Amino acid sequence: MITPPTSFVIPPARSVTDVPPVVEEVLAPEERADLIARIKMLLVEQDAVLVAHYYTSADLQKLAEATGGCVSDSLEMARFGHASKATTLVVAGVRFMGETAKILNPEKRVLMPDIHAECSLDLSCPSEDFSLFCDAHPDREVVVYANTSAAVKARADWMVTSSIAVKVAAYLKSKGKKLIWAPDRYLGDYVQKTTGADMLIWQGSCVVHEKFKAEGIRELKALHPEAAVLVHPEAPANVIDMADMVGSTTQLIRAAADLPNPTLIVATDNGIFHKMRQAAPGKTFLEAPTGGHGATCVSCAHCPWMAMNGLRGLCRVLETGENEINVDETIRAKAVVSINRMLEFAGQAGITVAGRSGD
Ligand code: SF4
Repeated sequence: MITPPTSFVIPPARSVTDVPPVVEEVLAPEERADLIARIKMLLVEQDAVLVAHYYTSADLQKLAEATGGCVSDSLEMARFGHASKATTLVVAGVRFMGETAKILNPEKRVLMPDIHAECSLDLSCPSEDFSLFCDAHPDREVVVYANTSAAVKARADWMVTSSIAVKVAAYLKSKGKKLIWAPDRYLGDYVQKTTGADMLIWQGSCVVHEKFKAEGIRELKALHPEAAVLVHPEAPANVIDMADMVGSTTQLIRAAADLPNPTLIVATDNGIFHKMRQAAPGKTFLEAPTGGHGATCVSCAHCPWMAMNGLRGLCRVLETGENEINVDETIRAKAVVSINRMLEFAGQAGITVAGRSGD
């Protein structure tokens, strides 16, 4: 066993600097129509179902809806795939979502339109470093966010999603447990502040959510005093402090419909607007500012890795079988334990499936 360095007590900051630019797929109308027709045919031929994340393009979300697939958060994508009779799952999202689908559905083939679609939270938490950190604190329960690799989930006691993280941390605190939390420092801070749990927090962050600016939201709110502010808890604390509603992607979509406000300022990836407009037709949606006041906006409220998913890549993987996701069986068998622990907890706590969300 490797002896962890004794100085490794507070995790170092984990900025991911190698962030690709956001490149949206541009298609002429004829090519779009042709691709959609071919993909529909291939999904049937390949006994495949398309599961797309809320942050993917409207084209992919509409196609998933039109072909009996689903548009959802990471965990629901995996659960939908499990319930589906299809033998192939095509996961439009980022790598950890493909891995989670494979962990819960080992007997199915899992394909992704772009194998290079990563996540800065996942990248910020290499499994070897994280394992050393856990080894240095054997007295702590290890709780990791859904946005992690299969190997990190395998090292954890619990995998949690953003909507259940506070409940799990409060439960563990009530049992006298101290926690390690990884990888998102902002979500970790939010959970720590909300529950008062003793948490050692890994210092990763989401390149999209960390760019939202409290000052910009304040100015937008001054122009639209009727607006409610919806914030994903991967955003910094001063942005969360401005929220009328803090929640996971699924919870924010529900809030868009339920809140009486005619205007909503939304601090999460703007791909979510497709579903929000469906849920609350007639309301006005405004992107929370990510730039201004000297900010360096690398994301502009859209994930560069989610943008790698497109109709061309989807069609190609269905034609060729490229980009299959596999997870080592030893890792998978451990990772599924941390996921199932959360699912059992949610079941006992009576938390509905639709209320759970990863990214
Ligand atoms: S939006 Fe952030 S958390 Fe979500 S996949 Fe992209 S980098 Fe990861």
